[in-house]
Amino acid sequence: MESNALIWFRKGLRIHDNPALNHARRGSKHLFPVFVLDPRYLDPDPSAFSPGSARSALNRIRFLLDCLSDLDATLRTLGSRLLLLRGDPVRVLCAILKDWKIGKLCYEFDTEPYSFAQDKQVKDFASLSGIEVFSPVSHTLFNPAVVIEKNGGRPPLTYQSFVKLAGEPPAPLTETYSELPPVGNVEGYELLSVPSIEELGYGDLSQEEFSPFRGGETEALKRLKEALEDKEWVATFEKPKSDPSAFLKPATTVLSPYLKFGCLSSRYFYQCLHNVYTTVGKHTSPPVSLVGQLLWREFFYTVAFGTPHFDQMIGNKICKQIPWRDDEELFVAWREGRTGYPWIDAIMIQLKKWGWMHHLARHSVACFLTRGDLFIHWEKGRDVFKRLLIDSDWAINNGNWLWLSCSSFFYQYNRIYSPISFGKKYDPDGNYIRHFLPVLKDMPKEYIYEPWTAPLSVQKKANCIIGKDYPKRVVVHDAASKECRKKMAEAYALDHLGDNLASKEISNGLRR
Ligand code: FAD
Repeated sequence: MESNALIWFRKGLRIHDNPALNHARRGSKHLFPVFVLDPRYLDPDPSAFSPGSARSALNRIRFLLDCLSDLDATLRTLGSRLLLLRGDPVRVLCAILKDWKIGKLCYEFDTEPYSFAQDKQVKDFASLSGIEVFSPVSHTLFNPAVVIEKNGGRPPLTYQSFVKLAGEPPAPLTETYSELPPVGNVEGYELLSVPSIEELGYGDLSQEEFSPFRGGETEALKRLKEALEDKEWVATFEKPKSDPSAFLKPATTVLSPYLKFGCLSSRYFYQCLHNVYTTVGKHTSPPVSLVGQLLWREFFYTVAFGTPHFDQMIGNKICKQIPWRDDEELFVAWREGRTGYPWIDAIMIQLKKWGWMHHLARHSVACFLTRGDLFIHWEKGRDVFKRLLIDSDWAINNGNWLWLSCSSFFYQYNRIYSPISFGKKYDPDGNYIRHFLPVLKDMPKEYIYEPWTAPLSVQKKANCIIGKDYPKRVVVHDAASKECRKKMAEAYALDHLGDNLASKEISNGLRR
């Protein structure tokens, strides 16, 4: 029977390998492709610590708008268009389902607690109204619920056990479309064009430096194609060996924001990597290979899905209880890139300006904030990343903060990243620091990682007086890290998690 179908886009902002879209278009007379602009996600919040809305910094808002423009453009080539509405998504959805006489509602299943609650309301409304609901799992390679079921109802707590359980993911869909069913009657509703960030009320942004990464499915597929062209690079990829200081040409794919918004299907990415492996023969393996990186994503999605209160310390069964200290001044110095350690500060400035940094750079600053130097709560660092990253992802961000703070998954708190020698190993000349901290651009290379050791005459010549033009270090790393180790040992001794499975499945120092 022909009917009106509605595809509700949230993530999954793509045409390729989109099971919800494929089901929606099949046998439908009219197809309504809808995205609801949520003011809470978009409207300026002047009280936030950086320009943006209550939920997101500007870079990610801009990335989302790019994704929507691109999706609309592609839909138009298929005889359709994106129907943009504004308001509370649940209310808007319930109204249009009724007014547009929708018989079939399709949307990608989302595991985040925020969407979970929202989707339940929409689903309940649709079911009560006799509307067919189709909500497939396609944001991840696997269905986290199925993996958890295979593990006897508990999420696997190590990467290795996850990989063993997971098996092979479903293949991506192969359907391509030359046209989609036309949009039906939308009378009575104000449909919007994709706004620019200026139109959202952010004022004059001409002085703002934005991320070089632009959103959208077209850009995602182009980026993927370019990365895969270098088969040798794909086949020999080892994440721990990649250079965190490479910024002109990053050492990893920078596909994370595209996976986050679903402009790129993880199953398609996975399949493309396997095609390269088949062509070249010899290749690296998980956890360090590129396929291994996709499996890290799955691992965190699965644990997050099956762990109540995953995003907090209290009430989270897999999280060590650690008496982190409260020190707003130190926290703000870290957040604003003013710790006096150029490697740490440059990374935090890259985060602010680009919304993306290399994985090992994230390791460095997360370790520094928590168990390495400042002993500040991982939840505070998590919130900064959550706001500023363009790839900000609930499961992955929380999972990695739990890991880096030695609160879960990884317990070798004696292994601390040096804020001096770690970066120097990759970039002895300090080009990364000079780029993101131009105040240090003329500092001689022997002092670039420790500018407080430069004689005053050198500081004057470099036009950078420490304590005036660039801050003095907020802590002395050797003493601070020693104190952190002591506090971690005390916290571990008191923590009862030592008795349970999480610690027994201790990571054997897995490099990733
Ligand atoms: P590549 O190395 O090219 O990997 C390909 C894909 O695999 C990535 O796009 C990503 O989807 C996935 N991936 C890679 N590394 C990891 C990992 N360690 N865990 C889970 N998935 C991974 N990643 C996010 O996508 N969103 C976040 O909010 C996020 N927060 C993080 C917070 C901290 C404290 C740390 C240490 C890491 C965080 N990561 C996060 C993981 C990782 O740093 C990024 O996924 C990666 O740097 C993205 O760059 P890429 O696309 O070039 O990665």
